[in-house]
Amino acid sequence: MGKTVGFVPTMGALHEGHAALVRAARARSGFVVVSIFVNPTQFGPKEDFAKYPRMLESDRKLCGDAGADLIFAPSAEEMYPTGSVTFVDVAKLGDHLCGATRPGHFRGVCTVVLKLFNIVQPNLAHFGAKDYQQARLISQMVRDLNVPLEVCVEPTVREPDGLALSSRNRYLSDEDRAVAPCIQQALQAVRTRAIAGEVDVARLESALIAELSAISGARVDYARIVDAETLQPFARLDRLAVVAVAVFLGTTRLIDNVTIPS
Ligand code: AMP
Repeated sequence: MGKTVGFVPTMGALHEGHAALVRAARARSGFVVVSIFVNPTQFGPKEDFAKYPRMLESDRKLCGDAGADLIFAPSAEEMYPTGSVTFVDVAKLGDHLCGATRPGHFRGVCTVVLKLFNIVQPNLAHFGAKDYQQARLISQMVRDLNVPLEVCVEPTVREPDGLALSSRNRYLSDEDRAVAPCIQQALQAVRTRAIAGEVDVARLESALIAELSAISGARVDYARIVDAETLQPFARLDRLAVVAVAVFLGTTRLIDNVTIPS
């Protein structure tokens, strides 16, 4: 009998958040594959595809140290040979949050992830909770298309001051880096208000937007509270919810989220 294969898809510029995914894969599988591919189809025309960090040598070391057995780093031509015309669209779950402000993003993500699943053929695939909507869409795709693997969602790894680790954090100016932890603090403040008894979603969202807008140099892309399962908006907090935000600091777009228990 062969070994269980664990898989961690990434875009490279790896950090401790990715290392935690590799270690989680290592803990459950006999053979661990990491893919490194900056996927052109998930970037919009005005987004940062060209300047997305690429650093294969240091990525290789991080993967080895975390326990990966194989790195798969294909070229765009290998992944999308001329004439590719098939895409995967997961309906509804992409209507809001990043799906609304980055049209076509999740079509690109789901397509490349399904292609990677078919190439690597893992038993388990590990994703980070930092990209909550992405993990939710991929879990749904796996269920709907009978993809024979288990999706594992791992906790967000943070800096000591609360900022979620991201390959894009390196682009923050010193001033923006200094205020970046306020994003997580604003999310925690909503959670605290909700747990203290506020059930009106519109009021919670307004308070959240006000708090995020008050961060020096910040521009709020979105700040929403949605059903944690369907990712649809709702009015009263009577179910498991996710509070998800995307905030520009300078030209760097950061995302984060917290869940609120029902
Ligand atoms: P990326 O390379 O940024 O596309 O992310 C590859 C995988 O790493 C995705 O499943 C992300 O959710 C996950 N990831 C990115 N940042 C973190 C983090 N701070 N903690 C946990 N997982 C993360």
